[in-house]
Amino acid sequence: MTTLLHTELDAAVRAVKLAATACQAVAANLVTTDTLSKKDRSPVTVADFASQAIVCALLSETLGEVAIVGEESAGALRQPDQQSTRRKVVEHVRAALDRDASEEQILAWIDRGSAAGDSGRYWTLDPIDGTKGFLRKEQYAIALALIEDGQVVLGVLGCPNLPVRGESGQTGVLLTAMRGAGASIQPLDRDENPSLIHVSGMTNPADARFCESVESAHSSHSDAARVALRLGITAQPLRMDSQAKYAAVARGDASIYLRLPTSADYRENIWDHAAGMIVVEEAGGKVTDIDGKPLDFTHGRRLEVNRGIIATNGAIHDAVVEAVRN
Ligand code: AMP
Ligand code: MG
Repeated sequence: MTTLLHTELDAAVRAVKLAATACQAVAANLVTTDTLSKKDRSPVTVADFASQAIVCALLSETLGEVAIVGEESAGALRQPDQQSTRRKVVEHVRAALDRDASEEQILAWIDRGSAAGDSGRYWTLDPIDGTKGFLRKEQYAIALALIEDGQVVLGVLGCPNLPVRGESGQTGVLLTAMRGAGASIQPLDRDENPSLIHVSGMTNPADARFCESVESAHSSHSDAARVALRLGITAQPLRMDSQAKYAAVARGDASIYLRLPTSADYRENIWDHAAGMIVVEEAGGKVTDIDGKPLDFTHGRRLEVNRGIIATNGAIHDAVVEAVRN
């Protein structure tokens, strides 16, 4: 662990916390009739762009000209017909950063997230992971990770709607992990010392609870049900959007996260997994693809040589991979 990474971790935590405040501000104004039927995706668009602008601004200002592989780019937002969305993005970024940044500056921050991510050192960002969860006012995450020569070395996962343990009704947690230094959790909206987390100690797969996507288009529910049957699992799956699933495994709410491909040619985005993966690994768990292979972050924006995801508490990993294979 180096002093340098502590600087990076502090910057990443601050960035994700501020991005989360912008997302929550947009969420607070969601018009539920439109958004619940998903007719109107504009709130998620505003929050997505604002979140990316805020994270890129804070990382660049604290750490210099870092490379960032973000999900969004400002191209579409620059179009003349996007003026109203642009105005809202600017308003939310200014409020979160508490300063009068210009529109051009904010668009430039969003475009800072367009690195290729093929070699060396780069960050990867999902400004809002789980957009459907965001619109349903369920789980979503702001996911940020640092990758060095194909190794995820740091991850920060802000989960505004995930319950704070032991505080009934309270939501909003931030999970962090640094390679070799463990994984921690802290409240998202206040400064409190992080506490270390650990995966469940469960060793009998039949006792496991597994989580999967709400969206059956993102992970096959029927294949997962067959895997559960093979393992003797009777508990109902915990369905949630976003990398909150990795958070659930990391803190022992579930022992398995299955992401079983729904098509042979889909390749996972690196920003959908980098932060979640290191959080689970540093909490003592294991993350591979469905063939049991390590995730390979050396192929740019996608996990080109991996298919699907299996994350577990480690102890039952081989049994789960075996059950998925059969
Ligand atoms: P989740 O909230 O776990 O369902 O995952 C949301 C993520 O699924 C999004 O950020 C997309 O990048 C990703 N996604 C989109 N289409 C697919 C697909 N066909 N298979 C797996 N993941 C997908
Ligand atoms: Mg995503």
